[in-house]
Amino acid sequence: MTERYDISLNTPAGQLTSAVEVPTGFVPVSAIVPMMRRLGEEAQALEERRSIEAGRAISCQKGCAACCRMLVPVSAPEAFALREYVQTLPEAEQTRLAQRFAVTRTALLARGLWNRLIEMGESTDPPDDAALEPINRAYFALRLPCAFLDQDVCTIYEHRPAACRELLVTSPAEWCQDPVAHPVDALPVPVRIGPALSLLWGELTEQPPKLIPLATALDWAARHEQENRPRWQGTHILDRALDKVWRFLSQAFQKES
Ligand code: SF4
Repeated sequence: MTERYDISLNTPAGQLTSAVEVPTGFVPVSAIVPMMRRLGEEAQALEERRSIEAGRAISCQKGCAACCRMLVPVSAPEAFALREYVQTLPEAEQTRLAQRFAVTRTALLARGLWNRLIEMGESTDPPDDAALEPINRAYFALRLPCAFLDQDVCTIYEHRPAACRELLVTSPAEWCQDPVAHPVDALPVPVRIGPALSLLWGELTEQPPKLIPLATALDWAARHEQENRPRWQGTHILDRALDKVWRFLSQAFQKES
């Protein structure tokens, strides 16, 4: 059973109104992921419209996958949701993905990055942006394609993490090949859904929020499987999730003022 809720959020780019179907029963925290991603995309669509009206069109397009070679952070609920999705795929597809993730792991081990990424996902004190910067650079220097990328197309497009949805640029697409030489103009993100989900998970499970690199996310979700077993009422998860969204929106308004 689900219950429909109308949501109205004031964002720096305008009023967002949306309707969501929320389970009335008890569900794991990963159940909120699709709804949160959609809210984030709707907020982002308002930003896109504002950018286009200001004469700054989005340069991102299908087949341009420079950002799919960057380190992508995901929240614990997203890692669980990704694992659940992968487990619904046909056996052959799961095997193919497992092989791709194994190739990624081998490449990261060879460069001494794998253990750092595993430590990051386990840390009770996730790195801030400054601490993350050298790891981001070392990772991007490898130009290692995401294991979900096939011929420069995302194979899990509808299920991709929020961080992948939020990186949109208005600078020339080719600049993304070398953002150190050409810092890109990224569209502002009014609500970072990954960090909002991390805070939500931290509150519900009374644990510190986690920052999990996508390359290690399936591995992380398998190791932490028991942490996705607790259930909460869907309406309670929605209420706490919106509390985190409002927190990010108020920060976005403060930045604008
Ligand atoms: S999940 Fe998809 S969009 Fe995100 S980095 Fe991987 S291939 Fe790219």
